[in-house]
Amino acid sequence: MCIEKTPWEQVIEFHGHTCAEIALGYRVAQIANRELGVSEIFEPLIKVTAYTHSCALDAFQIINRATYGRNYLFVVEQNIHSYVFQTNDRAEKLQITVNSEIIEKITEDVVSLSSRERQAKTIEAIKIILGTEEAQFCEIKHKA
Ligand SMILES: [Zn+2]
Repeated sequence: MCIEKTPWEQVIEFHGHTCAEIALGYRVAQIANRELGVSEIFEPLIKVTAYTHSCALDAFQIINRATYGRNYLFVVEQNIHSYVFQTNDRAEKLQITVNSEIIEKITEDVVSLSSRERQAKTIEAIKIILGTEEAQFCEIKHKA
């Protein structure tokens, strides 16, 4: 019997650990595919520009097939969780910016915590990222 891995499992396997930022990337990547009307991707089709470097980038490489090696993934460091998506065949751009309240909630200082407490924080952050209503989670802009 062969059980297909879910997209989430594929992302976690590729990234190598479960963390808040990979969950953030996963959600943004899924929203982008939906907004751009893309269902299953086998070939790179979507260029992604990220305005901060983080674990989130690995989700775009799996969910949007926007791989770094094939020159479909770019980072412009501005320290904001804002992502621009553009398909090959369309001039239209999509910008998804994660709300700053979400970022504040998930980036609490964890240095002083035990590993068990840190793990609990990570789970809590992932719940916020995946469970917050979309309108509160991010801003979606279609640009001509
Ligand atoms: Zn990570």
